[in-house]
Amino acid sequence: MESRKQYNPQMHSAEHILNQTMVRMFNCGRSFSNHIEKKKSKCDYHFERALTDEEIVDIQDKVNNIIQKDMPVVEEYISRDDAEQSYNLSKLPDGAGDSIRLIKIGDYDACPCSGQHITHTKEIGKFKIISTNFENSVLRIRFKLLDE
Ligand SMILES: [Zn+2]
Repeated sequence: MESRKQYNPQMHSAEHILNQTMVRMFNCGRSFSNHIEKKKSKCDYHFERALTDEEIVDIQDKVNNIIQKDMPVVEEYISRDDAEQSYNLSKLPDGAGDSIRLIKIGDYDACPCSGQHITHTKEIGKFKIISTNFENSVLRIRFKLLDE
């Protein structure tokens, strides 16, 4: 998990949107490993190749499009049984209990998460991909946020 000192709800919420965007574009699953900090962050995906320049721009545009829609970010609690049918719960801390907290970003994304988030996507600012690289079946995306 992210260290408390560096924890940044804007960055972390951007990670949710990036993950859903990657799932929709490439059906690659959400990032299996990440490092989220205020200044810059990185997410790793199981992947088969490098991204093209066009794809990088496309990902960035799609994430910014969701941010600009100012979608509400809300929490919802569902039973563990229901959650297990639809979501990967392996990233939740032990002892998350029988009631699972889902974080929903408008109608775009829903993901079990115990972290802190912003309340509307525009609070994230502008999403910018710094670089990507592909090695050993892992695609790494580094990104930062710019103030609007
Ligand atoms: Zn979260």
